[in-house]
Amino acid sequence: MGLGLRWPLGFCTYRHKDMSFDSFLGNPQAIAAIREMLAGGRVPGALLFTGPEGVGKRTLALMMAKAMVCENGPLDFCNQCARCRKAEQFFFTEREDLARRRESKDSTRRVEGLVYFDLQLIEPITKFILTEQIRQLRTIAYTRPFELPRRVFIIDEAQTIHWQAVDLLLKVLEEPPETTSFILICPNAYELRSTIRSRCMRVVFQPVEEAIIKDLLGREKRLTEPQKALAARVSAGSVAHALNFDPAEYQNRRQPWLDFLEATARRGPPGTAVDWRSLFDSARALAENRDDFEGTLKVGYSLLSDLMHLLLDPAADTVVNVDLSTRLKGWAPKLALSGIEKLKAGLDQAYRLQIRNVNPQLGFETLGIDLLSGHNSLGH
Ligand SMILES: [Zn+2]
Repeated sequence: MGLGLRWPLGFCTYRHKDMSFDSFLGNPQAIAAIREMLAGGRVPGALLFTGPEGVGKRTLALMMAKAMVCENGPLDFCNQCARCRKAEQFFFTEREDLARRRESKDSTRRVEGLVYFDLQLIEPITKFILTEQIRQLRTIAYTRPFELPRRVFIIDEAQTIHWQAVDLLLKVLEEPPETTSFILICPNAYELRSTIRSRCMRVVFQPVEEAIIKDLLGREKRLTEPQKALAARVSAGSVAHALNFDPAEYQNRRQPWLDFLEATARRGPPGTAVDWRSLFDSARALAENRDDFEGTLKVGYSLLSDLMHLLLDPAADTVVNVDLSTRLKGWAPKLALSGIEKLKAGLDQAYRLQIRNVNPQLGFETLGIDLLSGHNSLGH
């Protein structure tokens, strides 16, 4: 997800006081599609919300679920009627229940006594949405709703449905229950089995426009202006990532890359001494954060992409690491196109090594030695 950090997603683009789809930020085309379905009373039995992380897919699914049961619906939800309040209460209870289950070490107890409310947000309890979760859902789906006129099951991170449970869900989607609607949420639709995908009407989300994110960040007192500019770029259209941006954490993650790039760019003319120590130190630092190595690599990719843009057009306004433009502009010609491409290939290699569980430090060191000793490869 995003830079691989564990952002608490969801509920970010939603505030309790918000009482309308109008309060939703970005993705007007998704809102329009949903409003049209609600207005025509043509909500399909199964919807699939797909698109980047942190743009509000889940928030909008919760809003839509409310609108489908609201006493003042179905074009919108009021957040004030008894049903909207009930919906809110359901979602709150579910989150508490999920937290309790996730903490349980006992695999049987994790799924013991699963009860589904009329509006239910289904999420992975472990790495997966477990077979028992889907089995229970299937049993409930065909019964009449208990308290609300309809039932809406929102399946978040649908790509995590355990493979043994996919067929169970498919059976329900093939014979959709009259009173139950499903909203599946999955960043990349192609992570779902095609049989599931083809059963769902798709609502595609886009990254949120930078202007909207900047406007939102304008109210964040904890960030300085340059940090806001950086957050807007790093978040790449994700409201959740922008709001959760931690400048100190980002700097920590980026620093070893800067040391690495600096050591590489600083190399003097052929024959001058190479600062091997700083190179090895930065290689070690880069390899250290193995829990979130993908996040570390993404920062590296963003820096290389910035260098590339600045090399091709020093006035480029597409730089992610906006706070470093001047430094990057200085490094870009020293690394030259061939050097940047070689670093990119090195990152790809580090990524593959990581997948094979090989120590990535070795990869970075080799890459550094390769770059520093290959005099022609850096365009000198
Ligand atoms: Zn209402």
